[in-house]
Amino acid sequence: DAPAAGKVSTRYDLEKETELRFEVEAGEAAEQLELELLTGMAEVFGSELNRNKKYTFGPGSKIAVFTWQGCSVNLYGKPEVAYVSKDTPMLLYLNTHAALEQMRKQAERDNERGPRVMVVGPTDVGKSTVCRLLLSYAVRVGRRPTLVELDVGQSGVSVPGTVSALCIERPADVEEGFSVQAPLVYHFGSTTPGTNIKLYNKLTSCLAEVFSQRCEVNRKASVGGCIINTCGWVKGSGYQALVHCASAFQVDVVLVLDHERLYNELKRDLPHFVRVVLLPKSGGVVERSKECRRETRDEKIHVRIYKIGAPSIPDSCLPLGMSQDDTQLKLVPVTPGRDLTYHVLSVSSAEDGEEGARKGIVESPVCGFIVVTYVDTQAQVMKVLSPAPRPLPRHTLLIMDIRFMDMK
Ligand code: ADP
Repeated sequence: DAPAAGKVSTRYDLEKETELRFEVEAGEAAEQLELELLTGMAEVFGSELNRNKKYTFGPGSKIAVFTWQGCSVNLYGKPEVAYVSKDTPMLLYLNTHAALEQMRKQAERDNERGPRVMVVGPTDVGKSTVCRLLLSYAVRVGRRPTLVELDVGQSGVSVPGTVSALCIERPADVEEGFSVQAPLVYHFGSTTPGTNIKLYNKLTSCLAEVFSQRCEVNRKASVGGCIINTCGWVKGSGYQALVHCASAFQVDVVLVLDHERLYNELKRDLPHFVRVVLLPKSGGVVERSKECRRETRDEKIHVRIYKIGAPSIPDSCLPLGMSQDDTQLKLVPVTPGRDLTYHVLSVSSAEDGEEGARKGIVESPVCGFIVVTYVDTQAQVMKVLSPAPRPLPRHTLLIMDIRFMDMK
């Protein structure tokens, strides 16, 4: 690695079971930071650091370097914040991993399935981080767990507005996170489950179904179990969605981060064989904002665009025999117009075809995403940003509420 020319370097000597927390300044112009392990052993969210290798962290990163045995590290560049903390819940998290590993061993022995774990709690308590930690620890001992990402606000696997599942085959990359090679992604369309709770629950069931099918044919996947990351919305329908998820996936363990009432409610409402565990959050967890970047490209495409869910209408106006529920899963054709601009569209993997093919669209996974940047209704042309291969693999698009504007 090239030396970090001209950057200030600060050395930290960490005692065992402590962590160095640092944040990289946010914003386009901000300077990246580099981290290097000099002596001892250390890990970042469950992934071990190699010695004498420089790891780069971009603007806005919030990182903890934890050591079980003690270590010294160098930081190159000027962090927004950097401090060492002795007060971390890592030992509790490790014990949680050990308990799950015990369950996997037992599953192996008794020819049963491994633990299905749901991680819940309000936003910014470190749910995603705990999931990453448990998954990385599990692969490090040879397991093949599945990550189920139900946080439509901040998906670690795909774009926001989707739910997904990913088989984890190796620990998360220190800089990039988990390698996302063949995720199973479904279109939800907005960043809160509340915009269409019926669809959200339906997609949760779809993922659970696919995961269970995989477990039937793949013993390693079955023993590895899954770790489900959920949304921070834990009241009302958000709470009901958690209960639904627990039943759809038949979860065995629920980890509640930093929310005693939620813990008590879930203990009361879930079947008695589900182990509900309350865990503290790490003092290092900080609020974050996320930006995604895309390759830019123009393209002329002929497509069909739908929105999932019709606006609700008064019960008295519903056609006979139709309930309010039916409207939430309905596909509504969208006429391309200027108001499409900046919307994110999911490319559905549903077979192209006429009206008849519309049936499976809600339940079909997504195979890519595009962002509309410009619509010319007269020439019937729209410009899109698309990281997907050209030409588009399919021509059915689903519109999200989410908009994306590239400020570059
Ligand atoms: P949630 O999933 O509950 O919204 P995250 O796991 O995404 O929360 O954590 C929020 C942010 O805090 C992330 O940027 C993560 O990198 C950071 N973070 C988590 N744990 C620590 C820690 N111990 N020290 C410093 N930053 C942390």
